[in-house]
This record gives sequence, C-alpha cells and structure tokens, in this order.
Amino acid sequence: MSHSESEELKQAEHLIREGKFNEALQTVLELEKRDDFSPQELLSIKVLKANCLYMSGNYLDALKSAADIFQESQKQGDLLSSFDALTIQAYANMMMGNISKSADLINQAEDVLKIIKQSFTIDLIRSESFFVRIKASIHYFKGEIQRSLELNKKSYELAKDINDERSMAASLNNIADKYLHLKEYDKALMYAKEAVKVKYEPALAYPLSTLIEIYIRKGNVKEAKVYLDQLRELIKKPDIKGFKYLYRLEQALILKSSLRARNRIKSEDIFKELAFDNTIPIEQRYDAIINLCDLFLIELRITNDPEIIDEIQPYIQELLNLAERQHLYVILAETYLLQAKLSLLIVDLKKAKRFLTQAQKIAERFGQKELAEKIANEQSKLIKQSDVWEKLKEMGAPMEERIKLAHLNEHIEEIVKYRTMLPAFVTEEKVAIHKEKKICLVCRGEVLRYSYICECGAIYCDNCARALTDLENLCWVCDNPIDYLKPVKSYKEEAEEINLNHKGKK
Ligand SMILES: [Zn+2]
Ligand SMILES: [Zn+2]
Repeated sequence: MSHSESEELKQAEHLIREGKFNEALQTVLELEKRDDFSPQELLSIKVLKANCLYMSGNYLDALKSAADIFQESQKQGDLLSSFDALTIQAYANMMMGNISKSADLINQAEDVLKIIKQSFTIDLIRSESFFVRIKASIHYFKGEIQRSLELNKKSYELAKDINDERSMAASLNNIADKYLHLKEYDKALMYAKEAVKVKYEPALAYPLSTLIEIYIRKGNVKEAKVYLDQLRELIKKPDIKGFKYLYRLEQALILKSSLRARNRIKSEDIFKELAFDNTIPIEQRYDAIINLCDLFLIELRITNDPEIIDEIQPYIQELLNLAERQHLYVILAETYLLQAKLSLLIVDLKKAKRFLTQAQKIAERFGQKELAEKIANEQSKLIKQSDVWEKLKEMGAPMEERIKLAHLNEHIEEIVKYRTMLPAFVTEEKVAIHKEKKICLVCRGEVLRYSYICECGAIYCDNCARALTDLENLCWVCDNPIDYLKPVKSYKEEAEEINLNHKGKK
C-alpha cells in the first residue's frame, strides 16, 4: 500500500481497508488527474489504484496498472513499489489461472524483497504477508499442500502482528480450504470459523463458502443452508455483489446434494451458466464443469439415453481448453482418459483407443510416470475387454452396466481429487500455447525439432508420429496413412495382433 504521507492518500487507503473499493477507486482516479503531486506521490497514487483494482476482482486492469507501476518504480529506484507491483501482478495472474507466470513473478519479487530487507528499515509486514500468501497458493497449485499450509500460517502470523484484517481473513480461509482438501474436516471448520470471526466484510464471502462446502462434505446440508442464507444477505451489499458467482456455485452444490430430481435439474442449470462464464475465476469454472459431468452421469444411468454423452462434449472441451491454457497436464491427461471412457459407453472402440493413446502420450511427455502407467493399464484392459464391449452393444446393455465396466464413477472421483489439488505441473519445457508455436496434435507438447506434418496440416511430434505409425498408421484428422510404406491397421487388427503376441508369450 501507499508510502506517502498525503492526507488525501490516507483517506483513500482508509476506504480500501473498509472494503469500499468503488469509492476508493473514484477518489484515486480524481487524484491521478491532478498535477500538483510529485512523481513519488503519483506513484503512490498508482499503487493505491492497482490495490483497488485487484481487491475488487478486476484482474486485467490491475495487471495493466501494476505493469505501469513497475516501469515507473524502476525509473525512480523505488524498490518497495517495484515489489508491490510484482506481487499484484503475481496475484492477478494466479487468480486468472496463469500459474507458471505467477510463479515467475513471485520469484522476481522474492529477489527484490531480499534487497529491500538488507538495505532499508521500512515497515514491510503488510506487503510481505501478501507475498507469502501468494507463494503459499503457488505451492498449493503444485500439489504441495503441507508446504502451502505452513506458508499460509506464516502469512497469518505476519498479518496478525499489524492487525491487517484482509490478510488475516484470507490466510485463515486458505488454511481451512487446505484442511478441507485433506479431509480433516474438524480443523477445516475451526479455521473457517476463525476467518468469519475476523469480520472482514469485503472478503467474508470466501470463508462462508468454505463453511458451506465443509458442511456438504460432512453431509450436514441443514447447517450448509444456514451459511448459504448468510452469503445471500452479504452479496446484497453494493461493494460485495461481485461475489454473486460464489453464491450461485454454493447454491448449486447444495441443490446437487439433494435426492430430488427437480433440485438436481436446477443445479445443472446453474453449473451450465458458470461453466462458460469468462468473468469468474478459473477455479469456480472447474468446479462447475466437473460437477456437471457428475450430474450427466447420474442422468445417463437413470435415462439410459446415449445422447447425454454428446451433451457433455462441449463442457469437456472447455475443461480441456482451460487445462491446456494453464499447463495443467495431469488434468489434461485425466480428461482425455475420461473422454476415452465416455467413448467406451457408446462402444466406439476406435475413439476410445485414440483418446487413451493421447492421454498416455501427454502423461509421458510431461513426466507423469505413475499416470502413464495407469493409462497403459487401461489400454491393455480395453484390448482384453473389447469383445465384452461389442457384446454389450449387441445386447443393448443398460448404461448402468457400462458405467460400471468402465469404472467411470471412480474416475470422476479421481478428477475431483486432482482438481482440488489443481497441480500445475510447470515443466522445464514451459510450453506456451501460442498460435505461432507448433503443438503436437497428440501429446499437446511443443514440436521442437523433428516433426511430421500431414498433407492435411495436422502436426505430430517425432515421438507421437512414430508411435502412431506402429499403431494404426493413420492421420487422426484426415485418415490418410502416416507412413505410406507401412501397412494401415484397423483397430481390430491391431487388437488381434496384440492379443496374439500376448498368447505367444505365454
Ligand atoms: Zn507428440
Ligand atoms: Zn492428415
């Protein structure tokens, strides 16, 4: 926050602390127009503006503003403002799901922090608590929950020292959230209630939704509804109405937990609406999409109508887009595995096989050994069971039976587990998905040196092109052979060949 002594700036700071972001922003914008401030004071005004923007959830503008501050602060040699600019950018990026970018910025901020701590004796605690909290979240996104817990506790201690309510409430809520993911519900409840007790109204929506989710998981819907009511009252206030999406999501989760079909349909509508909403944070969109898949499966089991599988497709596609954009390769591979299983349900074995290949290549490429092994197991299971699947199709077996054979329920649970960890496996490659970069159609990795480009324009990395020539030897887009010198194998021939090899080995 600001380091200037000006009265007007102090007033704006006060408004921010009270959560009156719109009012604060208006004040700051007026100040920015004036020409009687020194360059140092102007910089402080800009820092306040960036604070208003990110705190009110306006991440894109916050990013722009913070980039501007960083440049200006470098010119002025104002390291503290540079530090603030970097942490705000790290935070905004994290909230928008750009985890690897956020991690880069936080490393940069850490370097600046070391210098400030050596050479100055300024009261840094507020900025440092914020910094530690972002760092905690980055560890969390990498799947390091214990480390994230430690750092959030440290952030809380720092914030408590200076009675920074915003940071206190935020770190307490983060701690509760981590315990929720670890299924330690009692600890989660304790910290979430502590966070509510801080009474920092502008961010109260977070611990309230955490409480709702803890009670749903504990099966106590009655108590969950008590907090949903509180949340509904809260978002009526003008400065807090930006959190409406949180209320909608929690409302849908409670409706979904109901046994009545009517309620489940209502929850489906809300999830659908949230799934494609670009203005809400990525985490809530994930939640919406995964819960939708779960609902579709319930419906599929009840109605036996295979059209539902087509209905799921756009949502799965969006999940793939989100995962790819954020480099969440484990989720990407898991989602292709889900696609494979959905293809099994309608006994499209060729598609199932391709999705499995793709999931496996992604897991291999991004160093996920365990996952690659799990998918290899699914591959051999599919080959062994292909006759069973064909028979189920002939018999017109109910979806219930097919879902069981594909272990689909367990798989959805698995994805929920991964999603709650949101492990951002930022690999050495740091593959960025830009248009000018060549991305392999199969493993979604960057094509660095050798590649196979089909006549139709589809691009395969060397590794995947080789793997495909050994399998079906067909381009996935145009169905032309990849290697004209080698035979083209139908899925069945391929399966038979592998079966023969298995028998031969015995
Ligand atoms: Zn590839
Ligand atoms: Zn092609």
